Amino acid sequence: MEIIRTVEWMKQVARAAQAKERLVGLVPTMGALHEGHLSLVRAAKKECSPVVVSIFVNPKQFGPAEDFQKYPRHMEQDTAALEVLGVDYVFAPSVADMYPDGFRTAVNVEGLGDRLEGRSRPGHFHGVATVVLKLFEIIQPRFAYFGRKDAQQVRIIQQMAGDLNLDTQVIACPIVREPDGLAMSSRNAYLNGGDRQAATVLYRALGAMKKEIEAGELDAARLTATIRRIFETEPGAAPDYAEIVDADSLEPVIRLRKTCYTLVAAFVGKTRLIDNALIEESGDSFSVNL
Ligand code: AMP
Repeated sequence: MEIIRTVEWMKQVARAAQAKERLVGLVPTMGALHEGHLSLVRAAKKECSPVVVSIFVNPKQFGPAEDFQKYPRHMEQDTAALEVLGVDYVFAPSVADMYPDGFRTAVNVEGLGDRLEGRSRPGHFHGVATVVLKLFEIIQPRFAYFGRKDAQQVRIIQQMAGDLNLDTQVIACPIVREPDGLAMSSRNAYLNGGDRQAATVLYRALGAMKKEIEAGELDAARLTATIRRIFETEPGAAPDYAEIVDADSLEPVIRLRKTCYTLVAAFVGKTRLIDNALIEESGDSFSVNL
């Protein structure tokens, strides 16, 4: 496994792989890797060679009052885990190399990025789309693997790839959870003691909603009321939003239809967590995937 620290070097390696018609796979991450990230790497390894994992804590996707400085950075542990999985290249550029003085461009995927996470974290998705487009340009992967844990992010990247005729196919992989249901996240490292237990409220709330859907409830207002009720039982967590949206437009729905997401965000102490359920029509009922 080779660790590549500059954009130019990464471009040379990627161009050489393409010249040999190899199927380059990319897994973009901010490091502090956990089983969620590693599941993406395993999916990439099944289909691609070489596999590139990028590790870059992208300053442009953090707000001024957010945790860019204290975001966990575990380069040595991360590279050791990736080596075991047979990753070919780790791309870990510096901020100065990715955003040299005078950098001015921001990618805006209109509409999809202003709602939900985008409303609570203004500018976040400009930062995400900008860095992902840069990674796609530098590495030119045939496939890029993202987690459905960040469902809005995947939708935005898919839209960007389509709109800009990129040659990269964006693949969404399932959410990997802790045994008690908490979606794995690098930010879970911030949770201690009671916060860790309180954090399971996102999964518990989505689970209660799933039961109601399986019992035939289709009304979005009643389903989100159930979610809010579960949150009210957990004093350690403050909900930010809980919305049921169309999976394509990310606009709220009144009744379940076709494919939807229930997206939730909450503060547990100072830590902001997100989670979601994928709701798919199957015959005359709906299946809920947590
Ligand atoms: P991050 O390092 O948080 O930027 O995440 C890098 C990639 O890993 C993103 O595509 C995330 O959606 C994905 N990811 C993070 N947590 C999980 C999880 N629990 N299950 C599946 N994918 C995840």
